[in-house]
Amino acid sequence: MKYRYLDLRRAPVMSSILLRHRMAQETRKYLDMQGFVEIETPVLIKSTPEGARDFVVPSRMNQGEFYALPQSPQTFKQLLMVSGFDKYFQIVKCFRDEDLRADRQPEFTQIDCEMSFIEREDILNMFEGLVKFLFKEVKQTDIPKLDRISYADAMKYYGNDKPDLRFDMRIAELTSLVQNKGFKVFDDAEVIVAINVTGASEYTRKQLDELTEWVKRPQLGMSGLIYVKHNIDGSLKSSVDKFFSEEELKKWASATSSNSGDLILVLAGKSAKTRKAMSELRLEMGERLGLRDKNTFKCAWVLDFPLLEQDEESGRWHAMHHPFTSALPEDLHLLKSNPGKVRANAYDMVINGVEVGGGSIRIHDKQIQKQMFSLLGFTDDEAQKQFGFLMNAFEFGAPPHGGIAFGFDRLCSLFGGSESIRDFIAFPKNNSGRDVMIDSPSTISQDQLKELGISTNSPA
Ligand code: ASP
Repeated sequence: MKYRYLDLRRAPVMSSILLRHRMAQETRKYLDMQGFVEIETPVLIKSTPEGARDFVVPSRMNQGEFYALPQSPQTFKQLLMVSGFDKYFQIVKCFRDEDLRADRQPEFTQIDCEMSFIEREDILNMFEGLVKFLFKEVKQTDIPKLDRISYADAMKYYGNDKPDLRFDMRIAELTSLVQNKGFKVFDDAEVIVAINVTGASEYTRKQLDELTEWVKRPQLGMSGLIYVKHNIDGSLKSSVDKFFSEEELKKWASATSSNSGDLILVLAGKSAKTRKAMSELRLEMGERLGLRDKNTFKCAWVLDFPLLEQDEESGRWHAMHHPFTSALPEDLHLLKSNPGKVRANAYDMVINGVEVGGGSIRIHDKQIQKQMFSLLGFTDDEAQKQFGFLMNAFEFGAPPHGGIAFGFDRLCSLFGGSESIRDFIAFPKNNSGRDVMIDSPSTISQDQLKELGISTNSPA
């Protein structure tokens, strides 16, 4: 990374950057053809609520005051709708001061879009069109119409709000079928879930032991793995034969759509943790069975996310997307009585189990926006101070509007068949958010600090 410029000479690295170039050009081409206008929004702004920490920049001319770098151009693009640019886009840098995970960068690029006088369906069609266009132009691939799945179904069948739909292997819930039969592990569990792994009945003892250790790893923390071999001759043999007769196992097999030659894997425990572990196990088995080919693309929309999520400790409500997201009209009446049940008019695009984009239809009414801020625990004063400019703008007539943003780095890496977004960024930062080539971040001189009016506590 110190010699990134030399690394970029290597053919595979260079081709990733060239792929990125092509993606950007084709994106512009499509959006321009559809009548979108590319507009730059400022980088020195104040906090935008995407739920991460802000990077801040001290102002020399206004000592003691700070700009924040945009986590996204969200508020600006909504203001552009008030101005009357009905279709906006920008390929834009965003900044989020988050703890870094493998494929996160503190600065990253979005294809950011917004449209007026539209409904959800218009957005879904327009951006389904963008992705189809990119596959066609960049990868010479025709992709079929995108699947649509509700958040609730995604969680139920895949244990995950960004399901990898290249393979089926749906999660089945066995809780009511298997409880109260004298097997303590099941009786003590909140939920018991299973998947059917096609053609894996011949898994050896050793392989099953190894899978059991895999689900027991601290990352998943399961207490064990239960299996049923659905043998070629149709017989069923489980690791809990003592408690469940073959008759009973037949019911498991039918609940999981299992056939001769398959292997049923079962996990039991606390609800959220067990579903998450099953989701991981499903992906792992998909991987082992070669069902996750990186040259096969399965794109889908995930719809109807919850509008709000509650912080377990403080009991406070947070916007799951961001506070400008509107509720589904049919759920709006629940906003006061049962906020947790309200579904958002929001959507994510998921490709091969990766969330590549997300957006929503916005609130365009000042009163509803006010109500939302108050639900999120802002006082009127705080809301006015932070977002008054947006709510005031709504008074001048805001069209119904909505939009979406795609993670451009991630989209490129997916098209390039790579797990790592770093390969598709010319000068990326490392896992600790450092650029080791230019050695940044770095300290600045006392003089500079003084000029900025920033005092340090270091001993004189
Ligand atoms: N601003 C949102 C984000 O960065 C995207 C959107 O709602 O359009 O995720």
